[in-house]
Amino acid sequence: MPVILLVEDESPIRDMVRFALSRAGMEMLDAEDVARAEQILVSRRPDLILLDWMLPEENGIELLRRLRKDPERKDIPIIMLTAMAEEEQKVRGLEVGADDYVTKPFSPPELVARIKAVLRRATGADESGVIRIGELAMNTATHEVYCGETGIELGPTEYRLLKFLLSHPDRVYSRTQLLDYVWSDADAPEERTVDVGIRRLRKALQPGGCDQLIKTVRGAGYSLARKDQSA
Ligand code: CA
Repeated sequence: MPVILLVEDESPIRDMVRFALSRAGMEMLDAEDVARAEQILVSRRPDLILLDWMLPEENGIELLRRLRKDPERKDIPIIMLTAMAEEEQKVRGLEVGADDYVTKPFSPPELVARIKAVLRRATGADESGVIRIGELAMNTATHEVYCGETGIELGPTEYRLLKFLLSHPDRVYSRTQLLDYVWSDADAPEERTVDVGIRRLRKALQPGGCDQLIKTVRGAGYSLARKDQSA
């Protein structure tokens, strides 16, 4: 289930968005200002942030700017919410690194469609929601995973882990980072949890030979390599 963080000070909009997202099968975290959003971001990693421009205390663009400079969080997709008249803001928001913007007032279906489009782009999925690397293909709409012709059965955690790695290929993630990104809602997670998750994932991918894509980087962590770099 995609997790969306909404940063918005108007509670009727928060209620409307919560309703729209739950109907679309997404979980919403919400913050009424930038300070609260930053608190949430310490322990959770949303799949996308909906960020209102005009907020009390500090404006949304300040948070956008900080997140884009934060090595741990700079690749979280962000959609800015802007008021109709603020054409200039849209341009500035995109310049600072927003992935898209939605103009208020917006309709819930429009918002959900934009979220889905940005999530698709962020994971590298094609129009039908399929992420493909080598022989490995994940359909993010149906949750089906194939290695070549072989269907792969994954538990929910292994699915999340594989989706994260597929969406960020050729980058090495430490156990701590993976815990943070994939197991963020677990109780008392330990680094060993990651090793167990990787072992299960490799085992599940073995029948088609796709376990070879998951690399252990000694002393650093794990990565999913687009090409076999050991050769
Ligand atoms: Ca506002």
